[in-house]
Amino acid sequence: MNSLLLNSDGVQVPQLGFGVWQVPSDEAEQVVTAALETGYRHIDTASAYGNEEGVGRAVRASGIPREKLFVTTKLFNNDHERAEEAFDESLSRLGLDYVDLYLIHWPVPSRNKYLQAWRGLEKIYRQGRAKAIGVSNFTIETLTRVIDEADIVPSINQIELHPYFQQRALREFHEANGILTEAWSPLGQGKGLLGDPALAVLAEKHGKTPAQIVLRWHIQLGNVTIPKSVTPARIKENFEVFDFVLDTEDMAAIGALTKQDGRIGPDPETFSWMG
Ligand code: NAD
Repeated sequence: MNSLLLNSDGVQVPQLGFGVWQVPSDEAEQVVTAALETGYRHIDTASAYGNEEGVGRAVRASGIPREKLFVTTKLFNNDHERAEEAFDESLSRLGLDYVDLYLIHWPVPSRNKYLQAWRGLEKIYRQGRAKAIGVSNFTIETLTRVIDEADIVPSINQIELHPYFQQRALREFHEANGILTEAWSPLGQGKGLLGDPALAVLAEKHGKTPAQIVLRWHIQLGNVTIPKSVTPARIKENFEVFDFVLDTEDMAAIGALTKQDGRIGPDPETFSWMG
């Protein structure tokens, strides 16, 4: 398993993690258990997913030493003014003493409270209760404001990213600022992308599935990524991406799949859902 270094105190993040959005808490306990048995060591949840309890139960029952695991959770949009309290609530639902990464889930520019939220995350980080802090769905504009006005540069920005929506400008901005890029919906939510003929060609060439080709592309780009599946065979399939390499032409062929209107999820400039 590859790990990448975050910009905070030598903390490393396993590049391939496991996401649990839209998985009810009890089912999350089962699928996280399956993922940990498969070898995943990085789990991505959020207070808004309503499954921190199930994730925590699976993590605590796994028998894997806590320091070998990487657990991420996120602060939701209605909690920007009360980050420390919301963090305590997440920790208690998870049943853990600390998380490895705490993220602001969305910037919600219309509320303009994300800087206040970031100050809260900085306190949590200084207390050692989150080993690293970062953001999700931040744009160049919202990230620039955090970098200019706060003390700590976010370690990661978790964003929608897949071959149909490649976020090149934002990735370049991250690289210039020592911020890791983490891809959500890395498989394009398993919709049209995985049926793309170009991926079928590469899958045939490497004796892999289209999902494995896409995940390998993320790994070689240097992204952290967190595919989701509740199907045991796919949980395993998505983990088997470290035994082959895409060559320059393969990478270019996937690079060429980008679409002008490739976004699947909400636009962070306008998303302001409060739950
Ligand atoms: P994804 O791209 O990981 O796609 C998941 C879907 O793809 C599955 O539900 C399944 O239908 C299909 N799939 C999975 N493995 C497959 C395989 N091997 N072959 C064929 N189909 C397969 O999409 P996602 O769940 O939206 O994103 C992954 C994770 O990212 C989430 O679980 C969550 O942790 C995170 N996320 C974060 C945000 C955010 O705002 N920060 C938003 C969305 C998702």
